Amino acid sequence: MTEFAGHCHCGAIRVELTSALTAGELPLRACQCSFCRRHGGLTTADPKGRLHIEAAPGSANRYRFGLGVTDFLICAECGVYVAAMMEGEGGLTAVLNVRGVDLPGFEGRTPDPMIYDDETPDDRVARRAGRWMPAVFVETSPSA
Ligand SMILES: [Zn+2]
Repeated sequence: MTEFAGHCHCGAIRVELTSALTAGELPLRACQCSFCRRHGGLTTADPKGRLHIEAAPGSANRYRFGLGVTDFLICAECGVYVAAMMEGEGGLTAVLNVRGVDLPGFEGRTPDPMIYDDETPDDRVARRAGRWMPAVFVETSPSA
């Protein structure tokens, strides 16, 4: 198992991706939705891996649009798009924005462009069930 660690620009939101895959084996996807294009988002996920997200108090902004089933996690401090998360039957799943957290090992990769505009909400949930990864999101409590 490899642990890939990264964080948003200011460090308020920290992530750790645990995977049996190397950075070269993990997918790298350029979602072409209106949100991801504006952020230049490049995402990865390992359905057999695990993503741990830890946010400092008050640093996690959640943005929703379109079908409204996804929380786009944005740092309230530095504005970086960190991850997309969705609450499902099996719990929280997510994809990680490799570019937003500057995850090491993905430099020079050509991402696969992804266009999902015609999906129904059911399509979307079904696709993600096979591609998104289990995730844990915690907001740390303010230090005394
Ligand atoms: Zn930040």
